[in-house]
Amino acid sequence: MKYAIVGGVAGGATTAARLRRVDEHGEIIIFERGEHISYANCGLPYYIGQTIPDREDLFVQTPEKFKNTLNIDVRVRSEVIAINREAKTVAVRNADSGETYDETYDKLVLSPGAEPVKPPIPGINSPGIFPLRSVPETDAIKEFVDERKPKRAVIVGAGFIGLEMAENLHERGVFVTIVEMAQQVMNVVDYEMAAQVHQHLKTKKVEFYLSDGVAAFEQHNAEAEGRSPRRADWVPPLRIKLKSGRTIDADMVILSIGVRPESKLARAAGLDVGETGGIKVNEHLQTNDPDIYAVGDAIEFPNPITGIPGITYLAGPANKQGRICADNLVLGNRKSYKGSIATAIAKVFDITVASTGVSEKTLSKAGIKFASTITHSSNHAGYYPNAIPMSIKLLFDKESGKVFGAQIVGYEGVDKRIDLIASVVRRGGTVDDLMEIEHAYAPPYSSAKDPVNIAGFVAENVMLGRSRHVHWHEIQGCDQSAIQLIDVRTPEEHALGSIEGSINIPHYEIRNRLDEVDDSRTNVVFCVAGQRAYLAERVLRQNGFDDVYNLSGGYKTYEYAVQKQENADIFALDVIGKDDNLYRGAEPAS
Ligand code: FAD
Repeated sequence: MKYAIVGGVAGGATTAARLRRVDEHGEIIIFERGEHISYANCGLPYYIGQTIPDREDLFVQTPEKFKNTLNIDVRVRSEVIAINREAKTVAVRNADSGETYDETYDKLVLSPGAEPVKPPIPGINSPGIFPLRSVPETDAIKEFVDERKPKRAVIVGAGFIGLEMAENLHERGVFVTIVEMAQQVMNVVDYEMAAQVHQHLKTKKVEFYLSDGVAAFEQHNAEAEGRSPRRADWVPPLRIKLKSGRTIDADMVILSIGVRPESKLARAAGLDVGETGGIKVNEHLQTNDPDIYAVGDAIEFPNPITGIPGITYLAGPANKQGRICADNLVLGNRKSYKGSIATAIAKVFDITVASTGVSEKTLSKAGIKFASTITHSSNHAGYYPNAIPMSIKLLFDKESGKVFGAQIVGYEGVDKRIDLIASVVRRGGTVDDLMEIEHAYAPPYSSAKDPVNIAGFVAENVMLGRSRHVHWHEIQGCDQSAIQLIDVRTPEEHALGSIEGSINIPHYEIRNRLDEVDDSRTNVVFCVAGQRAYLAERVLRQNGFDDVYNLSGGYKTYEYAVQKQENADIFALDVIGKDDNLYRGAEPAS
């Protein structure tokens, strides 16, 4: 059997390696357009930031190693430019010789990945503007940072890669500005969870603009225009004009606007491509041509929760698909792919942001009814030193308890919690499963009730109607003649800041102050995180107050979500001039 594979990184290299382990005698050829196979694309931002100091560490495998250990014929700088399904051949162009030749196959695997989106913005091809997808692009960015020592960088797009680059350029001493078209960073999480990331970015002195996009990139004509108004001795080569009319001067720009599936080759060969632009495959990862399979970023597959076809741009699914695909190629279609629940995680400076399953945004768009809770729990026992909180947003079906997804933002232990919830979502598990998770516990690692258990308990209370939750956006600017907001924290906490118009009845006094609770209005109780408010809610409910709600995620989530999200104009005169936390006076004269 002769197998040809297009693309030699995550999905392609995994498929090839597994193929060899299952079929010792088959002929396996990988065609890779670039110079490298099986490299660590996920590590590229950290090489630029020098956390990964040695470039060689990025190369998990080399063509030579693949040949020596697995007898796989790897042809780099070889682009497959056409597939002839009738003749079962691929046309390959060798980038060195410029020659094109045909190669036959019995079975073909497509793992061509995704290509960066490059919208037709004027000036987008100017020098100093970099996409980040491949090793050569990484080398170009690293060389620019090493040699030109840029003072300021603009990152366009605040997804995972954009934020990783923000951190890594910041590590290199560059002042970073992010421009994001959406009203929040990291679109995979919901707004109030992203709001925590916004506040963290502020503490790290990252400037960012939301709900704004780039209108044009211009080369700065230093002689004609003179010096930058921001700093007398700095002539930045790029001027970035935003749609809002704002201009930002910078030495370099990273484009991380997003990617789309590389499906041109498949489309030209008459393979079915879905509305998402991804190659359509069945559960065996087989295209509409039984001799052609496809894996990775280039395929579309129904989301296991919504049933809606989508694309998952993640390394884990690509690798796992490679293994399934190889087994199916050799053994017949024995294995089924079940789809990805898009479990993802990113380090954003000191915090970790993770998600699994689907978000509130996606559920709403899909018209799926859901309930959600936000809980804040410590990563380990509070009495053990250095306990630090994490926030968990849980989305579930209020009737069946089926868990649709979760998002976590925190400092420590976010990874294991998201993995626990992911395993429940993966098998269609419920809130009961979260409550029952038996985790490893000792004070340095967790609490007897893990944050994941707590999220389950709170969701169960909501399902049983023991607690009714209201969300921050439902009470923001609400009509207080109809709603009474009761802050059940201590008077000291209340005095330090609360929701405007709220009254203060500490939860430990509420039994004796029921006459202050106006039962002609809806009552919303809140504390910092929701726990004390739950105690107060139970007292009220059991004393005949039915129209009572607990503010989900408490004042903490509310405060994050309602404050100003952007961090604008913080770089003045090449130093941090002002930001919302540090400087509340007039803008310093430049
Ligand atoms: P790729 O690994 O991209 O491989 C596709 C290969 O096919 C490319 O090398 C391309 O040159 C080649 N190719 C395309 N067309 C042809 C052709 N016609 N002929 C020959 N060769 C061709 N995912 C995570 O889960 N976690 C992370 O932390 C993470 N970080 C990332 C950071 C960066 C900077 C990038 C770029 C990606 C990151 N990803 C991460 C995404 C992850 O790398 C991808 O989801 C994964 O690599 C997809 O595998 P793939 O095989 O589909 O495509």
